[in-house]
Amino acid sequence: MKKLDKDDIKRIDKYYGNVPVGYAIIGVPDKECDVNEWPVLYVNEEAAKYMGMDRATLMNSCYDAIYPEINETVRYLERKVAFDGVPLETERYSPIAKKFFSISAYQYDYGMNAYLVKDITEKKMYRNALYSTMSAYREIYHVHLKENYYHMIYPKYYNSSEEGDYAKAIDKHIFTGKIYSDDEKNVRDFLDCKNVIEALSNKDIVEYRYRRTNANGEVEWCLTSFVIDERVNGEADKVTMMIRSIDDVLKREIEQQVLIEESLAQAESASKAKGVFLSNMSHDIRTPMNAILGFTDIAQNNINNKDRVEDCLGKIKSSGNYLLNLINDILDISKIESGKININESKNDINIIMSDFFNIMLSQCNYKKQTLTLDVSGVKNKQVYVDKLHLNQVLYNIAGNAVKYTPEGGEIDIIVKEEEIADKNYNNYIIQVKDNGIGISKDFLPHIFEAFTREDDSKKTEGSGLGLPITKSIVTTMNGSIQVTSEENVGTEFTIILPLKIAEIVDVDVMKSDGEIKKTDGCLDMDNCDNTMNKEELLINNKKAINVLVVDDNELNLEIASEILKDDGMNVTCCSNGKSAYELVLNSKPCTFDIILMDVRMPGMSGYEAAELIRKIDDSEKAKIPIVAMTANAFDEDKRSALKNGMNGHISKPIDVEKFPDLVRKYASF
Ligand code: ADP
Repeated sequence: MKKLDKDDIKRIDKYYGNVPVGYAIIGVPDKECDVNEWPVLYVNEEAAKYMGMDRATLMNSCYDAIYPEINETVRYLERKVAFDGVPLETERYSPIAKKFFSISAYQYDYGMNAYLVKDITEKKMYRNALYSTMSAYREIYHVHLKENYYHMIYPKYYNSSEEGDYAKAIDKHIFTGKIYSDDEKNVRDFLDCKNVIEALSNKDIVEYRYRRTNANGEVEWCLTSFVIDERVNGEADKVTMMIRSIDDVLKREIEQQVLIEESLAQAESASKAKGVFLSNMSHDIRTPMNAILGFTDIAQNNINNKDRVEDCLGKIKSSGNYLLNLINDILDISKIESGKININESKNDINIIMSDFFNIMLSQCNYKKQTLTLDVSGVKNKQVYVDKLHLNQVLYNIAGNAVKYTPEGGEIDIIVKEEEIADKNYNNYIIQVKDNGIGISKDFLPHIFEAFTREDDSKKTEGSGLGLPITKSIVTTMNGSIQVTSEENVGTEFTIILPLKIAEIVDVDVMKSDGEIKKTDGCLDMDNCDNTMNKEELLINNKKAINVLVVDDNELNLEIASEILKDDGMNVTCCSNGKSAYELVLNSKPCTFDIILMDVRMPGMSGYEAAELIRKIDDSEKAKIPIVAMTANAFDEDKRSALKNGMNGHISKPIDVEKFPDLVRKYASF
């Protein structure tokens, strides 16, 4: 085998020792010796640097140590160099150096191969990145605009390179009948050399979108861009021209556009609905207000005509009631919208709830000569845990609509059934309310639960379009569902499904009013109380004249409350703020007051603060006086706040004149 002696190495080193490319000579002992055993005879500094080893170690190793990836192809090519003198140009990745190298191998002498090695890692990565970027394009050209000459950069076919007259190429490559006919003239104008120079006079990139037929015969959107490579005297001279499909991008853009348009339409329709609602509201509020003020005037002018005054008062009362319902609905919806519904479940007989409700509805149906039926035969377990107040609200909204939207003489059927579900502790209670009224149109049906919406035909009747959205929110909060089917002029059917926890059966009579209400939150609540007072209690309280202290900063409210109570035979003391109420109680003789009705929101000292101070009075008799909040804050949390602040209960304003005196007596007996 040929070897390099010291002089040879010195000589080679003189030329190649410090050149900025790797240089190596590898010995080829004979044909029998495998390539990986070929000895390394010489490496220069750069080659050793690539490998991260010193030259002496390398020059004592074999091919295998510098390139352990010798497979059959490498073996074949290396032998070709060594034995046939066929030079080799290749690129290889070295796992030792973790780099890409370009390698030129040639026969140095018979029995020795020489290798020139160059680090091309950066170039290679750059090239790879470029290729993968280019693959996003259909075609890429380099165009010399002033010379009307082009050179195709991508795709590059093996052994072929396209270049030549740019104007001719436009026809050849682009106008092969593939451009969508409507776009053809514009595309031709856009690609024209002079126009490109003009368009690039004050920017570095110009683009144009058009349609063309792709290889599958489908029309696709394309984008052609010219990007400046070089300017001569400020004018575009050399450019890169890129063509790519933008079908996907465009599809996404279109989808987004549709989404934007849809949400815009939704926002518009919501704001329109709110506008309609506000105009309805202002009409609905003004109408009863007008009646209240008008009939008040008439009553004043006919003050000596008892019949006329009575008639006016009746009308004022019914307009006031209508206004109150409307205000309650608006408050409900704003409460629901801010997610503040509280569900308070307590043990109830569902059949009793239904029959009580039936009796209330009956009077409305009688008035319209409608037939109302209730079928609870499908209920097996009557005792359930349910929020009676909210269930009644749901029933009232649905059945109330049935009465409202069913003409005189119509029929309304309420059916309650029970269905077992997987959870043994719960059953589904299905409440169906069917009517044979005016029905709901197909167009309106999908919008029926949207706030503020009403069908045109129903405008002849009173309403705000809030009942059903309120109902749906309550049912959903109770983990239930509500569905509706309807046909115009045939009728409507609402189905409510509520999963309710079954309670063991108890004696129905025990469940009446007081116990049940007290159990929910310990608060006697006038709004929910059916006012069935223990006869004994009433007798006791009726015997004595109750002394009531009414505290309210609003003179009219003070007057209304004290008049009603005085009419009922009570002794009433009025006070217009919390501080003087506290002082009055503090300085009064024992047993001066049996009960204090306290407004909550008052300037200076609030009702809560006054109640707290009264509870701290040393005289235990005074500190124990029942205090009842009497306020227009009518939500459940207001009722709870009253209790938390040391009060015994809550009466919401406006007060129900009929129930008020009895309730005051009841509280006074606490
Ligand atoms: P309101 O009754 O105050 O208008 P709702 O939210 O309770 O508001 O009902 C919304 C609309 O749904 C009503 O205006 C009416 O057009 C329609 N609707 C509800 N229930 C019925 C029914 N039983 N029959 C016919 N239409 C109904």
